[in-house]
Amino acid sequence: TPRVFSGIQPSGGLTLGNYLGAIKRFVDMQEQGIETIYCVVDMHAITVWQEPDALRRQTRELAAGYLAAGLDPSKSILFNQSQVPEHAQLGWVFNCVARMGWMNRMTQWKDKAGKNAEKASLGLFAYPSLMAADILLYHATHVPVGEDQKQHVELTRDIAAKFNNDYGVEFFPLSEPVIEGAATRVMSLRDGSKKMSKSDPSDMSRINMTDDADTIAKKIRKAKTDPEPLPETPDGLEDRPEARNLVRIYAALAETTPQAVLAEMGGKQFSEFKPALVDLAVDRLAPISEEMSRLMQDPAEIDSILGRGADRARQIATPILQRTYDIVGMIRG
Ligand code: ATP
Ligand code: MG
Repeated sequence: TPRVFSGIQPSGGLTLGNYLGAIKRFVDMQEQGIETIYCVVDMHAITVWQEPDALRRQTRELAAGYLAAGLDPSKSILFNQSQVPEHAQLGWVFNCVARMGWMNRMTQWKDKAGKNAEKASLGLFAYPSLMAADILLYHATHVPVGEDQKQHVELTRDIAAKFNNDYGVEFFPLSEPVIEGAATRVMSLRDGSKKMSKSDPSDMSRINMTDDADTIAKKIRKAKTDPEPLPETPDGLEDRPEARNLVRIYAALAETTPQAVLAEMGGKQFSEFKPALVDLAVDRLAPISEEMSRLMQDPAEIDSILGRGADRARQIATPILQRTYDIVGMIRG
């Protein structure tokens, strides 16, 4: 039977990339009636420095974002990673299964550690191994993610296969990445070759879920583009990364395809297209950000939803971790 797992780091405020590439897809899968488990991955967030108060606030804000976007704690399990210690425990076992060479090849590691890998945390290097534990602790079969996480889900499959092979068992499933929709890789508004990220130093590079209408309008107005009008079909976007990005964002927000957007907007200048995009973005994001700020007024309620979610997550995780320990040869009391 299918079981969905995914997570987002509370490493900053949620972006439009997180919404279109991840959260909106999480809601779709929840509504298909599949078993869905969604996590706030705070242990991943501290692989780079987080101020403790900011981490607490961002954890609650991300949970509020999940709820405001339509995740429902009576349909999905919603929880915070560090409240289920089995993630760290299985993560350690996988640190001993995964190979240094595998981690070295990860593009996120190369991007985030940069040229100064000596100064990166050990946790940042081991990130994909903990992510494999997140997924496999629930024997999840499907993992909805943005394009940038595909390599990590593939590595999760490698870890599952090596564990099964090393111990001669058929225990962990080979989980499938689910990367769908018009906006699986939303790009920075300032640089069409860079992914939009919540940890990008430039706030103008991204639309935050909590940005007000004026801020969204300003960021889209200033978004980098080229001087040509929009093409009539998507192949006309091939060498135009910034234009392609805005068309994909529009399509994802309107729940249609780039073809359909260009059938309507082809031939128009950005001076006409951008205001239409602003209207659409404000229309879709404003209700979510309003609900987020309403939820944030009652942090205790958010904490209690996360606490109940953690209890439910542990009911699935505990027997899987116990079985793993038995397979590995660890004694349990
Ligand atoms: P950070 O910069 O701290 O890594 P992030 O914005 O990349 O933050 P993550 O928590 O790493 O967010 O990723 C959460 C989910 O959002 C993942 O499924 C990821 O693939 C997806 N995602 C992140 N950025 C984008 C983007 N620009 N377009 C589409 N999906 C994205
Ligand atoms: Mg990321």
